[in-house]
Amino acid sequence: MFDSLSDRLGNVFDSLRGRGALKEDDVRAAMREVRIALLEADVALPVVRRFIDKVTEAAIGTEVLRSVTPGQQVVKIVNDALVEMLGGEDGDGAAAAKLDLEAKPPVVIMMVGLQGSGKTTSTAKIAKRLKETEGKKVMMASLDVNRPAAQEQLAVLGEQAGVATLPIIAGQQPVDIANRAISAAKLQSFDVLMLDTAGRLHVDEALMAEMKAVASVSAPKEVLLVVDSLTGQDAVNVAQSFTGEVPLTGVVLTRMDGDARGGAALSMRAVTGKPIKFAGTGEKLDAIEPFVPSRVANRILG
Ligand code: GDP
Repeated sequence: MFDSLSDRLGNVFDSLRGRGALKEDDVRAAMREVRIALLEADVALPVVRRFIDKVTEAAIGTEVLRSVTPGQQVVKIVNDALVEMLGGEDGDGAAAAKLDLEAKPPVVIMMVGLQGSGKTTSTAKIAKRLKETEGKKVMMASLDVNRPAAQEQLAVLGEQAGVATLPIIAGQQPVDIANRAISAAKLQSFDVLMLDTAGRLHVDEALMAEMKAVASVSAPKEVLLVVDSLTGQDAVNVAQSFTGEVPLTGVVLTRMDGDARGGAALSMRAVTGKPIKFAGTGEKLDAIEPFVPSRVANRILG
């Protein structure tokens, strides 16, 4: 994960770490390298600028440069700024942004995103996690009537995950399926209902209208946008298009297992204001992790 970014930054900081004395010029030269590394990682330009300004200002403070270990201190400043960029709150970023499931059951989690982003897989992964780690009784329903076999795909994943799915009735429209799912989940006392909405190849009005209609009948407590981290800044652009249309509460970043660059993870919070709540790390149903900013920053800085 983020190997190429990690290597680039590693090289920059190796030269600083061991040094007993640092000058302002050394810091500025290092920050030029960091800037290039972040841009190559496909981090959004305004985010890179803000990051570099902040770190430079903190790092050329007299106290830092006069300290016994200025190199280490600069690395620490970069680490803290990375944690913040990744969405770390309360200063340490040691915890992932949690799902808010405090509501009268069945609590609805709506999954949205483009086709192929990993939405259906992520729906099943999160359902399995909620069942296994929080003991929740979860039902999933696919509202994807566009893609042939989407509903069957969720049913198959549900069986693999040991999670119930709403029985399929051919010909029903998304809002009707959502209503039927809510009634079924109430009747059968499910704690959580996960609605896997349809994806399209690109953001379009029909997709947004359908999502809004589903959101208005299901009053979701969480609306999670699923995006593919491999698409870098495009993932962030997709998130921006969805923000404002539906009340997003968080992001699921998939395919982090194959992402050497990290641009989506590093730009998402700053650009969209939405926390990344989970990271998909593989095809298997257990391959999902809460997104912990400090842990991700550690991985990047090695
Ligand atoms: P959807 O069209 O958005 O519902 O996408 P799917 O859930 O069908 O996923 C598309 C493909 O991506 C499938 O082959 C998944 O196994 C794969 N996939 C989903 N999430 C991840 C992930 O985090 N890592 C990897 N390596 N593959 C993933």
